Amino acid sequence: MPLRAISRDAKVRVLFIEDSPEDAELIRFQLEDAHLNAEYLRVEDEEGLREALAGFKPDIVLSDLSMPGFSGHDALQIVREHSPQVPFIFVSGTIGEDVAVAALREGASDYILKHSSARLPAAVERALREARTEAERQRAERELMRTQRLESLSLLAAGLSHDLRNILQPLLIVPDLIAQRSDDPRLKQLAAVVAECGRRGHEMAESMLSFVRGSRRASERFRIADLFRAVELLLKGSLPRTVEFEQKLEDPDVELHGNYTELQQCLLNLCLNSVQAMPSGGRLELTAGVRGERVVLVVADTGVGMDEHTLAQLFTPFFTTKSDGTGLGLVSCRRIIEGMGGQISVASRPGEGTRFEMLLPLPSEPVDEEPGMAPVVPGQGERILIVFRDGTRLSLLGNALASQGYAPELASDGAAALRVFAESGEPDVVVVDNSIALFPAAALLSTMYESGYRGPAILVGDGGKAFDRSVLPDGVVLEMLPQPLDMHRLFAAVAEVLSRRSAR
Ligand code: ADP
Ligand code: MG
Repeated sequence: MPLRAISRDAKVRVLFIEDSPEDAELIRFQLEDAHLNAEYLRVEDEEGLREALAGFKPDIVLSDLSMPGFSGHDALQIVREHSPQVPFIFVSGTIGEDVAVAALREGASDYILKHSSARLPAAVERALREARTEAERQRAERELMRTQRLESLSLLAAGLSHDLRNILQPLLIVPDLIAQRSDDPRLKQLAAVVAECGRRGHEMAESMLSFVRGSRRASERFRIADLFRAVELLLKGSLPRTVEFEQKLEDPDVELHGNYTELQQCLLNLCLNSVQAMPSGGRLELTAGVRGERVVLVVADTGVGMDEHTLAQLFTPFFTTKSDGTGLGLVSCRRIIEGMGGQISVASRPGEGTRFEMLLPLPSEPVDEEPGMAPVVPGQGERILIVFRDGTRLSLLGNALASQGYAPELASDGAAALRVFAESGEPDVVVVDNSIALFPAAALLSTMYESGYRGPAILVGDGGKAFDRSVLPDGVVLEMLPQPLDMHRLFAAVAEVLSRRSAR
């Protein structure tokens, strides 16, 4: 009966390496007796074996120890080379204790005596189950590696686009200056080409950055108990039986604030590193406690530990001592922990295991105002609605104003601006591009003022286009700025209209 469970969906392909057809039949009867849903193939020499590995693709191999002209050990070696995951069981009439031990050491999954083979079905079942668990573990590991590669890619992209935006800045400004200082139409044209390239590059950097930001998930408040439960669940498939896993949670109600999924990924990375550091078993501990104002999370193992050289490079991207490692697990752990305002540290010695400790701030009470934390900038989080058709300018302005402590809201045309206005209420200042054609600034502003907006407006004029002030109610603060826009003039204008607003 027990075999039914593992062979429910697909037939198990059993390969015999056996010179005696009668012996193979006997084993087959035993397996069929135990309801193994299987198909069988028998080979008796190297050529047959190689063909079967390539064509039949066995799920399990049952091999005799000695055959004329071919030994079970050779067979084992060939199977291990060709299909290292496939379980291999010796079934022999002559196996001795020492031979059995050697066979297991060479990578056989089990050995069974031919004529006392009552335990054959159970052994086959166990070998198949273990192979499946191992395959599942490797799949989970590959998945983890894939997310780590993505992680590093977004790290790279974020850094790159940030640098690119800085490098491209002059390209956005200088061509305008050149064009202004010369009457040479060719030069003006060339300047326009350079400006266009700068804008395109800037847009690319911008979209790269927003892609990366989009892949970041939001923060939330969660219980560590839930987090631990999830980690244990995810880890289960990867825990060899030789590794003992224990969780200790001092207070089940302790909470953390941050990105749940990322922290889960971080703990999982650390636990998997620990498992990999304990090839011959050991103990893995996951603990959480509160120390003063901080939560302490610990992942500790009794594995191989690390020498000085490894310790020094641990958090360097792509540093790994594993043949199939990515060297990104700990990099991403550190980014995640530091992103939550915490620290990660490690203590380890060769042969004495490893202990990773993470200190994270307890979530502050929602009413906490965190005095003294406000950055010293002119802006105080005033909401500034920026309406510009040109996406590059729009995001430039947004970033620039955000860097001054304002809260910009971006809209690429009048309709979008009205949507923002309707959804998030009155801004403190509105900055409008006067060159928008479709839903021009005058129309936008008069609609806003008709809807009750009384705040100041800054119009970024394209020179010739006159603006009809009469569409605005009396007493409204309106400031005009020329194109090309100078950031410092914009900052000054914003600060100025805000102060006039509060002086009224
Ligand atoms: P990877 O696991 O892909 O190698 P990591 O960034 O997760 O990348 O780890 C980097 C290196 O740090 C590992 O290759 C290993 O040498 C070392 N290491 C990490 N955790 C442990 C641990 N618990 N025990 C021993 N060595 C570790
Ligand atoms: Mg790792």
